[in-house]
Amino acid sequence: MKQLELVMALSLMVFFGALAMANGKQTEYAIVIHGGAGSATTDPVVIAARQAVLEKALGIGIATLEAGDTSLDAVEKVIRILEDSPLFNAGRGGVLTAKGTNELDATIMNGKTRACGAVGGVTKVKNPISLARKVMIETRHVLLVAEGADVFATDLDDPMIEIVEPEYFRTEKQVERLRRIREKEQLSDREKMGTVGCVALDKYGNIAAGTSTGGLVNKKHGRLGDSPIIGAGTYADNTTCGISCTGVGEDFIRNAIAYDIHARMRYGKQKMESAVKDVLNNEKHPIVGGIIGIDHRGFITMQFNTGGMARAAADSKGLHLIEVGK
Ligand code: ASP
Repeated sequence: MKQLELVMALSLMVFFGALAMANGKQTEYAIVIHGGAGSATTDPVVIAARQAVLEKALGIGIATLEAGDTSLDAVEKVIRILEDSPLFNAGRGGVLTAKGTNELDATIMNGKTRACGAVGGVTKVKNPISLARKVMIETRHVLLVAEGADVFATDLDDPMIEIVEPEYFRTEKQVERLRRIREKEQLSDREKMGTVGCVALDKYGNIAAGTSTGGLVNKKHGRLGDSPIIGAGTYADNTTCGISCTGVGEDFIRNAIAYDIHARMRYGKQKMESAVKDVLNNEKHPIVGGIIGIDHRGFITMQFNTGGMARAAADSKGLHLIEVGK
């Protein structure tokens, strides 16, 4: 009898051990970045320059996570670098509205608590992602827009929230892009997109996600896309995954894409990879763009249905990838 009890106890230990391994984290930390989905650029100079910025952003993300700092820190630091580069549609490189102005959107979300912060239509904040984090930490709100968000930024008087003149965002490339559109040189939806995003899993098992964008070129003054809308362009929940999207924002809002991926995992028990695949290939409710994510075990996904998506990823097991084109 004693022997039988021992065998049963051992079998249970093996069973639960295997279960723990199956559900357990596969990597100590993981990070994934996108620099927007759209048409893949073929210009070697642009490719090399974008690669260099992604390499720098990924390096800072890895160093942050390796040092034991939080996934929120990693996401904010990575996105700040991309916002400071004129090569991505966010911060300095943000596309212009039909009025020829910049209106920037950003979101950050903490998968441990579902705390989140977002800003929409800001015009004078160098790093909207940091302002989104301030909304999360320092207010009881989730989303601040337009003048109210700009005033909140100015009043903060915080070195992380640098206030800049509108000219800072008017890069030659974006002025030229708007001119082409105005002169009816039609850009396809795929050419109009950009945006940056980052998802990270830290050593404590916490996932964070963030997204920052100038939106769609030639957008109406006052238009918000999916990027500042929690559940559309960004979502994070430690029990499932963190998600950041890029693409035609209206598609992502209508279909609550980031939350839908979480819900498919949570209630439908779907794996992240197939959940992302399904929403990107939904014939009844089509969307155009790309999605990055990390699940609670540290698996990374980077999928898109456009010509290309700039992306980068790394984890503690040795993954280190940077792709600018297809
Ligand atoms: N999703 C962004 C928006 O609609 C644009 C993009 O990802 O390129 O504002």
